[in-house]
Amino acid sequence: MRKRLVAGNWKMHGSRAETAKLLNELVQLEGPKIKAEVAVCPPFAYLSDAVRLLKESTLQVGAQNVCAEPVGAFTGEISAAMLKDVGCRYVIVGHSERRTLFHEDDQLVARKFMAVQAHKMVPILCVGESLEERERGVTEQVIARQLDAVLTVAGVAAFADAVVAYEPVWAIGTGKNATPEQAQDVHAFIRGRISGRDDKIAAGLRILYGGSVKAANAAELFAKPDVDGGLVGGASLKSEEFGRICAAA
Ligand code: PEP
Repeated sequence: MRKRLVAGNWKMHGSRAETAKLLNELVQLEGPKIKAEVAVCPPFAYLSDAVRLLKESTLQVGAQNVCAEPVGAFTGEISAAMLKDVGCRYVIVGHSERRTLFHEDDQLVARKFMAVQAHKMVPILCVGESLEERERGVTEQVIARQLDAVLTVAGVAAFADAVVAYEPVWAIGTGKNATPEQAQDVHAFIRGRISGRDDKIAAGLRILYGGSVKAANAAELFAKPDVDGGLVGGASLKSEEFGRICAAA
């Protein structure tokens, strides 16, 4: 049985004080209503604060990005070893904002994925098609290409300790989520792609949906058999709303 996961991607939002306030509110929400695993991914600058404030809680901390290189003259970058050192459990790799705004290609994303695992953290590998790609009918080809880039270098065994997030680019931050059926179709495709190489790993793989998840649509999205939780952007910045999403999972 796959344990549900809801991860909040805070992106570049908040101040140190706002981070502390939000985390304190999230801790209050913990309780029997929330059975899913919950993680928050604050900006790098506040990761240590988050780890400290969540020390007594079951909430996990993740990072939003990582450098593919292990160490050296890479001004402004943060290594996987550093993220492990501050206490991260998860690291998002290949978010569409990284792929589009920062020109990260499939190969770089695959190297980041491996850097995360080399330091015993869990990558959350984001995949997803643009609106233009969906309209051209190439969604599955795009997802296959993004997955295969990682499968080729890391192998299917790497997916035993990874999470995949299906995030259609047209649904991120737009208020327009994929329908539960659209999400299920792509999630089933992802699981099938992995199961083509290893059934057992595919059956245990958590596949999150991301793209305008909110309390009002979470339950119907999470009810689909291959949707194992969510990667939540905007709605993860409001504790009450995020708590309702976690409860729905
Ligand atoms: C995201 O950025 O990962 C995301 C899913 O954003 P939002 O929930 O705001 O669409």
